[in-house]
Amino acid sequence: MTEARQVDVARIRRSRSAAPRARLRWTKDLPVGKHADKHHRITGARLAKDALGRHIAFRVTTLAQVPGPRPGPEVGVDAGITIPLALSDGEVVEHGPWPTKKEEARLLHYEQRAARRKGHRKKGRRTGRRPHKTYDQIARIRATVKRRRDDWQHKTTTSIAETYGTVVVEALSITNMVKSAKGTAEQPGENVAQKAGLNRSILGEAWGRTVQLLAYKVARRGGRLAEVPAPGTSQECAQCHTVTAGSRRTQAGFVCNDPACGWEGNADHNAARTVPRRYRTGHALVPAAGRAVVRRASHGVKPATAR
Ligand SMILES: [Zn+2]
Repeated sequence: MTEARQVDVARIRRSRSAAPRARLRWTKDLPVGKHADKHHRITGARLAKDALGRHIAFRVTTLAQVPGPRPGPEVGVDAGITIPLALSDGEVVEHGPWPTKKEEARLLHYEQRAARRKGHRKKGRRTGRRPHKTYDQIARIRATVKRRRDDWQHKTTTSIAETYGTVVVEALSITNMVKSAKGTAEQPGENVAQKAGLNRSILGEAWGRTVQLLAYKVARRGGRLAEVPAPGTSQECAQCHTVTAGSRRTQAGFVCNDPACGWEGNADHNAARTVPRRYRTGHALVPAAGRAVVRRASHGVKPATAR
């Protein structure tokens, strides 16, 4: 993190002619120049670089009215395997494949090429320029996919925070998510190995970030984000609340094992409906507020943000 005093926005702008390749595109109004004062100012900046280019993220402090409590509706959000985000009111938030079929094919092609080159390389000799070109191409595709995911997450979480007053999610557990791609004993998932890999890298990470974004976006609007314990949400019937191991027969379908109920529906949607009920029956986890201080023996005190 760069300190605020090292960031001179005006100078960056003026140096455009000196460095013609650095083009700045502002996506937000920043409190600089005559717009800046004691309460509205830039307090830090971070230069982020990926294979497609760079961007600067500014940390800004502004004075804003404390949002009043938000009486908006309550919703449960569940990240699924067959549905990216399932909401308890039946709403479904989807997105195209990450990466697209074409990108996936290109990734595979470049990865195979890179592996071939690596195999040909003689021991002790430096990597030539050509493999590096292949690595760059791989990195660019991955960066494109990541940017697309970030965009979708921001739009989706903003829309959820604007629509609902209370948002209930499962407490983060990536191991749960990876497990569910394996399907069930009776009906194992397709391409389990690939999907498990994809889950770890994209889905698991995506859900963690979705919750992170929701946390501040909901709070900023006066709403509240509640986390409930996750175990069993996929096995609990949203209709009669019977928990039966094996109720989740397939990845997509949920069939209640209670013969008196027999509710059938999408498994992700079922879990999304179970989540707010747990919250209403008093199962919310209390998140650690503010910042925690982690002490390290030799490095002094390192602040760490609590989840
Ligand atoms: Zn049931």
